[in-house]
Amino acid sequence: MTKVKSVRTRVWNWTGPTVPPQGNFCTNASDALFNKGDSMASFRFYQWLTCEVETDDGTIGIGNAALAPTVVKQAIDEWYAPLVIGEDPFDHAYLWEKMYRRTHAWGRKGIGMTAISAIDIALWDLMGKLVDKPVFKLLGGRTKDQIPVYYSKLYADSIDAMQKEAESASKDGYQGFKTRFGFGPQDGPRGMRENLKRVEALREVLGYDVDLMLEAYMGWNLDYTKRMLPKLARYEPRWLEEPVIADDVTGYIELNSMGIMPISGGEHEFSVMGCAELINRKAVSVLQYDTNRVGGITAAQKINAIAEAAQIPVIPHAGQMHNYHLTMANINCPISEYFPVFDVEVGNELFYYIFEGDAEAVDGYLQLDDKKPGLGISISDKYLQHFEVIE
Ligand SMILES: [Mg+2]
Repeated sequence: MTKVKSVRTRVWNWTGPTVPPQGNFCTNASDALFNKGDSMASFRFYQWLTCEVETDDGTIGIGNAALAPTVVKQAIDEWYAPLVIGEDPFDHAYLWEKMYRRTHAWGRKGIGMTAISAIDIALWDLMGKLVDKPVFKLLGGRTKDQIPVYYSKLYADSIDAMQKEAESASKDGYQGFKTRFGFGPQDGPRGMRENLKRVEALREVLGYDVDLMLEAYMGWNLDYTKRMLPKLARYEPRWLEEPVIADDVTGYIELNSMGIMPISGGEHEFSVMGCAELINRKAVSVLQYDTNRVGGITAAQKINAIAEAAQIPVIPHAGQMHNYHLTMANINCPISEYFPVFDVEVGNELFYYIFEGDAEAVDGYLQLDDKKPGLGISISDKYLQHFEVIE
C-alpha cells in the first residue's frame, strides 16, 4: 500500500511587476468602514500557497490555496500534515473527516477549511497520478466535449475603458462576461446612476445574445440591493453575484426570493453543510463554491450532488484546474469562470505564474487532456525570479 510520506508547504510572494490599481475597481466589504484606507486591500492579494503531498514511492500530488497563505501554511504544518502522514491517500473521505473532526473546535470555516482544501486537492492529484488518470475521470468522467467559459474581468473603470475591454474580449468567442461594480451604498444616488450607466454601456457593446454577469463582491447591503434590483433588471443580467456579505444568509434568501434576477454566491462559504444551507434555503440560484476554500474536491463533489438534486447550477469560483475537473465531470456545472491571462493586477492571476499546464481558453472554450494524469499541472520555475518563496 502506498502511504503519505510528507507534506510540503510553500508560500509564494509575488515581487514582480503589477498593474497599478485604478481606484475603487470593485466594491467590497471594507467599503462600509468610515476610514477606508486602502479600499481595495481586502480584494487584492499577491501571495499563494502550494501544498505538495508525497507518497513513499516518490509520487507528488499538488494542491493550492490563496486565502491567507502564511497562516494556512502554519495550520497545515502544525495541525493537518501529521493527520495524513502515514495514511493511504485513497482513503480521502476518511482523511477529510479526520482533518475536519480533529480540528472541529476551530477549523470548520476559514483558515482551517482552506488548509483541508489544499491537502484534499493534493490527495486527488496524487490519486490521479497513482492510477494514471486525469482527476475528472475519477469523478465521473467527461460530461462535455469541452468546457464553455465566461470572461471574468471588466473591473469598474471609465465607461470608455470598459467598453474597449468588452469589445476586445467579445472577439474571443466567450459565452459570457462578468463585470464588477465600482459604487455602493456610500456613493448615494449618483453612484447608483454610475453603476447603471456602466451596465448599459456594456450591453451596448455586447448586445443581448451573450450572458452578462454582475458582481458586487459583498460591497452592497440588503437595502441598497433591493433598490438596485429593479433598475438592473432591464439589462437582463445572468446573475447578481455576492451583493451582501457572506454571513447575511437571510439577506441572500430575501433577495433571491424577489425573483427579479438570479442571485449567486458561495465563494466565501465553507464545507458541505455551509453550502447545503445556501442550497436548501434557496439563498442562491447559482452556487459558486471555490474548491480551494470549500473543503477540496471531496467536499465539492458532495455539494455537487446536493445542488443537482435541488436543480441549482454550480459554477465554481475561479478559473483553476481543480474547478475545471469538477465542471467537466458534473452535468450540473454548465460553464466555468475564466480569468483571462493578463499581467498581475489583483492577484487572481498569480496561479498562471506558479504553475505550468493550466488550460487556456480558445474561442470561448477550454479542454482537459484525457491522458494527463492528476490535475495536469506542475510547479514552474519560469517566473521564480519574481517570487520570494517561504518554505
Ligand atoms: Mg466573485
